[in-house]
Amino acid sequence: MLDQLSLDINGLTVNYGAFVALRGVTLTVGRGEIVVLLGANGAGKSTLFRTISGLQKPTSGSITYGRTNLVGLSPEGIIRMGIAQCPEGRLLFPELSVEKNLVLGGYIHRRDKGGVKDGLEEVYALFPILRDKRHQAAGSMSGGQQQMLAIGRALMARPKVLLLDEPSLGLAPLVVEQVLEVVQRINAAGTSVLLAEQNAYAALSIAHRGYVLENGVLTLEGTQQALLGNDAVRSAYIGV
Ligand code: ATP
Repeated sequence: MLDQLSLDINGLTVNYGAFVALRGVTLTVGRGEIVVLLGANGAGKSTLFRTISGLQKPTSGSITYGRTNLVGLSPEGIIRMGIAQCPEGRLLFPELSVEKNLVLGGYIHRRDKGGVKDGLEEVYALFPILRDKRHQAAGSMSGGQQQMLAIGRALMARPKVLLLDEPSLGLAPLVVEQVLEVVQRINAAGTSVLLAEQNAYAALSIAHRGYVLENGVLTLEGTQQALLGNDAVRSAYIGV
């Protein structure tokens, strides 16, 4: 964990034309943490992830990893810094095999054959089902398996910070548990995680801390226990 750094977002504002999608967002993912970002549809979670990943330019504010300012770096440069995203909706290549999808995920970090092989071994150790299905088309697998593949593909980039956008979307509760259990294992192996979720209870159950994003503004932050016990969080996101 020694080579990990903290990801710090400060006063981040992002516009789509005149529309303000994020306003003054200040958030930290500390070394070794799982931080959950709660928010309804359209709150701005994906916008935040896309901005951290360099796919969307902020209007103002900073994003730093250690001492490096990520704003203005290319998406490839940001992956090289150790920050990889597993996007909402997975965005796999459904016709390509499981293994080809993984190899594509490693192209920035693992250009040599040995590196790719090591990466595949690491991912297959974490997800044995992907080894069994490595020659199958990605699109032929179940939703849960495709989510595992999307996470595995992000891991091929050897991230120090993993940005996970709604991994539980469309999955049955038991499968959500399996996915989140893997996220915990990835974290225990030394990767910090920023996890955007609508499935608040499940996400908070594995998180150290969290934030609530509403209409582009962070309205609440707290530890796992504080958020699980917060009445507003419970009524808006947990349904109690
Ligand atoms: P979801 O889970 O539904 O994806 P989200 O919290 O990830 O929600 P975003 O996708 O970041 O939310 O969207 C935040 C707001 O920005 C929404 O009102 C959305 O309509 C708007 N938005 C997103 N992308 C664009 C775009 N390319 N152009 C204009 N508006 C956009």
